Amino acid sequence: MLTLAEARDRLLKGECTAVELAKACLKRIADTNPAVNACITIREADALEEAAALDKVGPDSAKPLWGVPVVVKDCITVKGTRTTCGSRMLENFIPFYDAFAVRKLKEAGAVIIAKTNMDEFAMGSSSETSYFGPVRNPRDLSRVPGGSSGGSAAAVAAGQAFAALGTDTGGSIRQPAAFCGCVGIKPTYGRVSRFGAVAYASSLDQIGPMARSVEDCAIMLSAIAGHDPKDSTSAPRDGQDYTASLKRGDLKGVTLGVPKEFWGEGITDGVRKTCAEALEKAKALGAQIIDVSMPHALHSVAVFYIIATAEASSNLARFDGVRYGYRVPDPRDLADLYIRSRTEGFGEEVRRRIMLGTYTLSSGFYDAYYKKAAQVRRLIQQDYHAALARCDALIAPVSPVSPWKLGEISDDPLKMYLMDIFTLSLNLAGLPGLSLPAGTDCETNMPTGIQLMGKPFDESALFAIGHALEGAFGRMSAVETFR
Ligand code: GLN
Repeated sequence: MLTLAEARDRLLKGECTAVELAKACLKRIADTNPAVNACITIREADALEEAAALDKVGPDSAKPLWGVPVVVKDCITVKGTRTTCGSRMLENFIPFYDAFAVRKLKEAGAVIIAKTNMDEFAMGSSSETSYFGPVRNPRDLSRVPGGSSGGSAAAVAAGQAFAALGTDTGGSIRQPAAFCGCVGIKPTYGRVSRFGAVAYASSLDQIGPMARSVEDCAIMLSAIAGHDPKDSTSAPRDGQDYTASLKRGDLKGVTLGVPKEFWGEGITDGVRKTCAEALEKAKALGAQIIDVSMPHALHSVAVFYIIATAEASSNLARFDGVRYGYRVPDPRDLADLYIRSRTEGFGEEVRRRIMLGTYTLSSGFYDAYYKKAAQVRRLIQQDYHAALARCDALIAPVSPVSPWKLGEISDDPLKMYLMDIFTLSLNLAGLPGLSLPAGTDCETNMPTGIQLMGKPFDESALFAIGHALEGAFGRMSAVETFR
């Protein structure tokens, strides 16, 4: 299966048309989606119409995604196509505007062929909480694809599209990319506009690309990055051509920091082995490896699940049965309308988060929980800045474990939260992180991801280092036949 860059080159040379490529991806979705459930809404007619319009004008090399079929996580709006957030609450919600990132993809010539499945409102780590049923990992259908952007990762790994948009609030791009053998980048907070992304935890959410190579992610991020006056937290900086950073094949002169808190207990032997080998490969490429310490990072699970649920309880207050989404047909009075619309419209995990967040924000508990968490968040940020002052990027496993079996931990929310131990702190610090496949876990035969964490707005360094590492680790191609 071609990479995005290869497909784009063929399109530009006229070796295939946008319609032909869209049809091939739609056929792959028809063949594989019953098994993986990666897509919620397939834009067959719209995508073919949009591709035909591109073909009519002809290839345009000024558009870096001309004719390329991509998919978009279902918490990011595409005008006129329903945006469900994996929830009954928004089962029939049709937005009337494109998200900024979607507009940028369209301007770059991409063809959006489907909206992808996800944990409900992006709350989860396995893509099992979707109202539309769980997503399965194309590399082993009995296992989860990670979450919450599990549909995006599974679609890319199954060859349904060349790239995807995901969102990452606490690891939701990096961890599913790792679980499905894809590459994903969570940009610096503010690098990509959040306009049109349904808010989960506004101080942590960030949109980013997922694809089958570092180069493909760089092409995608170049298309969607940039200032947007409609998002007040969007950084006042122009976008950038991240493909310019992919030149080098070695790591001479590069220093990588190994935070010891990310390599301690709790990691399975299989993941540890692949990640240790990855460090050796980095050394062989010429990188200098140094030990660093981030003493507060291990508090990130507690801090994240206080801050994220607090913001979620506020953000999700808008789904009240009046303005958006699901409304019970026969309310007795206003209170009954609110209560039953929200009880029936939201799934169990979302209701749990709202209750947790409402509790930690309530007067009497605010100082003990939210305020304390905000203070520790600052300490975590300071740890990152101190560690990154000594190196070009930090390197660590994405997840302590390989993808688990569907249903294995879904009835143990705390265990699920603890699985995020290595991804949450980066969002708390607002920094960029690139996840790429480092190899295969010898215990489970599943992909193992490694992440590079970098300085604010220095995505270029992550792409440069990631590209060199990818040369040593090898890329994982799309799955042809499922097991
Ligand atoms: N797993 C984390 C959560 O459930 C983070 C999810 C995300 O990044 N959207 O909140």
